[in-house]
Amino acid sequence: MGTIRNIGIAAHIDAGKTTTTEGILRRAGRTHREGRVDDGNAVTDSDAVERQRGITIYSAAVTLEWRGHTVNLIDTPGHVDFTAEVERSLRVLDGAVAVFDAKEGVEAQSETVWRQADRHGVPRVCFVNKMDKLGADFDAAVESMRARVSANPAVVHIPIGSEASFSGFVDVVRRRLVEYAPDGSFSESEVPPALAGLAAAARSALIETVAEGDDGIMERYLDGGDITAESLTAAIRRQTVSGLLHPVLCGSALRRIGIQHLLDAVCDFLPSPEDTAGDRCPTGDEFVALAFKVVPERTGDLTYIRVYSGSLKPGTRVFNTTRGFKENATRVFRMHADKREAVQEATAGDIVAVVGLKKTVTGDTLAPKGSRIVLESISFPDPVVSMSIEPRTAAGRDRLAEALADMCRQDPTFRFTHSPETGEMLIAGMGELHLEIAVGRLRERVDCAVGRPKVAYRETVSADSGPVEHRHIKQTGGHGQRAIVKLRVEPAEGFQFEDEIRGGAVRRQYIAAVERACRESMQCGPLQGYPMMGAKVTLLDGEEHDVDSSDMAFEIAAREAFRKAVALATPRMLEPVMRLTLAVPEEHFGRVSADLSSRGGVITESEAADGRRLVTATVPLARMFGYANDIRGLTRGRAGWSMEPERYDLMKDS
Ligand code: GDP
Repeated sequence: MGTIRNIGIAAHIDAGKTTTTEGILRRAGRTHREGRVDDGNAVTDSDAVERQRGITIYSAAVTLEWRGHTVNLIDTPGHVDFTAEVERSLRVLDGAVAVFDAKEGVEAQSETVWRQADRHGVPRVCFVNKMDKLGADFDAAVESMRARVSANPAVVHIPIGSEASFSGFVDVVRRRLVEYAPDGSFSESEVPPALAGLAAAARSALIETVAEGDDGIMERYLDGGDITAESLTAAIRRQTVSGLLHPVLCGSALRRIGIQHLLDAVCDFLPSPEDTAGDRCPTGDEFVALAFKVVPERTGDLTYIRVYSGSLKPGTRVFNTTRGFKENATRVFRMHADKREAVQEATAGDIVAVVGLKKTVTGDTLAPKGSRIVLESISFPDPVVSMSIEPRTAAGRDRLAEALADMCRQDPTFRFTHSPETGEMLIAGMGELHLEIAVGRLRERVDCAVGRPKVAYRETVSADSGPVEHRHIKQTGGHGQRAIVKLRVEPAEGFQFEDEIRGGAVRRQYIAAVERACRESMQCGPLQGYPMMGAKVTLLDGEEHDVDSSDMAFEIAAREAFRKAVALATPRMLEPVMRLTLAVPEEHFGRVSADLSSRGGVITESEAADGRRLVTATVPLARMFGYANDIRGLTRGRAGWSMEPERYDLMKDS
């Protein structure tokens, strides 16, 4: 069993992710100062804007040592406008801690994150936090895991006391009582007689759950034999690693209860890189790593990578196989909460930050020169909201461009375009809040004005254009220009290009020029100039000339043919449709639902759960601006909700 644990902490906003992270770092003895979220100086919230908001958006990795293990904590954002950031982190971690609020149980957003983790096959342990809070209900929280996300909870800690009287828990596996004193210290003892019945029942329940997926445990259980803590731990680990079981712990991050035990559970139950090797990367001896985060610093980029195989030493040349260029990995660091430690070698499973890479961006693969391995890149959804931005002074223009370029490198879901004709600059992102935060960060560097958020529409074709030809023939004195292109455009997934020219009538180089021109033309649709998607171009025929043909001539011919074909293929507008998840108190459901239908929303799922209604709906993004305020008004702030891009729909009347 390897000793590295690459984990993330996933939670609904406000469930206590930051406080838990802080507690973990402190317990692991790596932080000298203690940051509390409420004071705005928690350790992983390194960004000033995040500090102000008290939420963690930008993933960074922090390394800590625990019980002979190296735990790399990859900071996953807790807000769903940043779904892509979550996706990005899930790619590089092997396991996760899901933090829940003991009063709220599984909330709308934790549901989204849970499903993402399912999709990526990330094993989880669950931490029911805020056991000290008024209204905390451990059993109900566990029940909501079963009911809302079909988890298979294996309760390994049962709380002692609740709300103000919460003082510790029974470790069900080891049959020990763990009690905390008000000063945060804890002691362990035998389970006292008063709690013996409770502990025994919890252990039977746990063993029954585990036995279902473990023949050895099942036999011993049926024989009435004793099951040791070691064999039970090993069985829980096996099933947790294969995603069949979710160990559940309890505690209070604020009062520092249960944090050490959470770290123990991470080491005991969550997989090491060896356990997941092969699933994520073709393993070998060669160095292969994925860049998963780029943080621009004054002295150059800090590129966070996960090493999948082989090793990396500082001062080596690496090759970016995704884009095809050399980079220098000058220095390699392990990032601790309070310092960076230079390392002489990073090996398989490690997460380190590299200094010296100049052009590598998130999602790129690094390998030795000559290697062809390209890891599946991290896919990010297209941005759905845009707004115009301009510097308030002419002098600010360069600084703004620089700041925007930095942000794009750092956050692949943030985009920036600049129209050479109008001079207008546009930024685009995953949601209103995403852009709001981006603008806040830009404003720290340059004074700028922004327009209102707008929907980032797309354009597409809805019919087959039939064959369309363009003859580009110019005779001007000496060399002329000559290229003939015949193609058709029809609806399809994404962008596709097919070459059907037979018999080598047009050389490869020109066919590549045609494809390039069509791809570029997709960037600007015929209706309102939004990027196009969902079209297939088939190159049917063409003609070249020995002397007068060139890449440029074919590009011009292809652009014209494409333009004419698209006009014949009935172009239409596409609009982003969001998937909205809501949890509303039953008494407000009527108003919320009426409001949703007035926005053109469609409720796809609706279920009742202890006084609340959990709703899933699809709604056109165009009708959702300002929803944060509206839903607060409709429910007196008592609804939980989250939203992510789901698909593009054809717009009526377009
Ligand atoms: P995040 O949004 O998930 O990162 O949550 P935070 O860690 O920022 O916590 C949100 C709020 O809940 C803060 O005001 C915390 O002080 C509070 N909080 C966090 N953990 C606990 C806990 O165990 N008990 C109680 N009562 N409050 C907590």
